Amino acid sequence: MHVVLLVLISLFFCCKAYTNELNLFTSRHYPSDLILFEKFEEKTGIKVNLINAKSKVLEKRLLDEGAKSKCDVLFLADAGALYSAEKKKLFTKYNETRPLKLIPSSLKNEYWIGVTKRARIVFYNPSLIDYNEIKNFSYEDLSNSKWRKSIAIRQSNNIYNQSLVASIIEHKGENFTKKWLNKLVKNFSRKPQGNDRAQILSVAAGESKLAIANTYYYALMLSGKKGEEQKKAALKVKPIFPNQDGRGTHINISGAGILKFSPNKKNAQKFIEFLLTKDAQTLLCNSSFEFPIIENVPTNKLINNLKNFKEDIFINVSSYGKRQAQAFKLMKKAGWN
Ligand code: FE
Repeated sequence: MHVVLLVLISLFFCCKAYTNELNLFTSRHYPSDLILFEKFEEKTGIKVNLINAKSKVLEKRLLDEGAKSKCDVLFLADAGALYSAEKKKLFTKYNETRPLKLIPSSLKNEYWIGVTKRARIVFYNPSLIDYNEIKNFSYEDLSNSKWRKSIAIRQSNNIYNQSLVASIIEHKGENFTKKWLNKLVKNFSRKPQGNDRAQILSVAAGESKLAIANTYYYALMLSGKKGEEQKKAALKVKPIFPNQDGRGTHINISGAGILKFSPNKKNAQKFIEFLLTKDAQTLLCNSSFEFPIIENVPTNKLINNLKNFKEDIFINVSSYGKRQAQAFKLMKKAGWN
């Protein structure tokens, strides 16, 4: 009798544990995301098990494990990385419930959905360049011979750069982009190197006149979390949001999708809905300095000061993924190391 009861109890706990779990693969690396996942656990009773690694590593593991994978949600930075996982048939379609409907159609497709936004913009040094010289700046202007040996940017293997170039191809076509790239590489102030923050540092030091970097790295530097020196450097530069009098500034997302072999698909759907709540958006953005993807989300002032600009909503971010290989080829051909 006791044995039967024990078996029943253990069966109950085993199944309960099973249905109340969520296995999350994420390339995000912010300690405060853990607070967010605890909140989800508190609210729903669903335990979040986290695996954190670079997107390519997560993708490979999912491919290796195939149908045996226990992972439910894949949460990655850059639409190109999401597209890559989609192409490998790792996702299943999500349900477009109310909170998911609120996300603009240019920031999602049927397999994955944007959770936060970031913009890839230009930074200049106001002690070297007058604001009037740059106020109507566009990405197209980056190839102007006026900026010869002036631009700091990272290497062509960087996915953010590939997405940016993919967006130029999408808007202006391959021929234009080829010519644009050939001139752009002549405008590099140095051999592309380092991360996004390194480009801002180069402008702050006066080594380069313009830097290309994502908005959240600038806010991160200003926050002081990367040390006093980086904070001081960030205070020396100013952001310019390109193409404000045209199509708008290039934006990208970090986003998530439900995995095809997910054993807890309902929990996965719930988790994505939770990420799109105001509370979750505040926490996500205050840790990463990205922009919230829904309206009227309270965030800290480093984000608020940056977030009012015209975004390029004319192309779907999934087109970055589609054109990334083409973009990379053209970048290499132009001599972008
Ligand atoms: Fe980043």
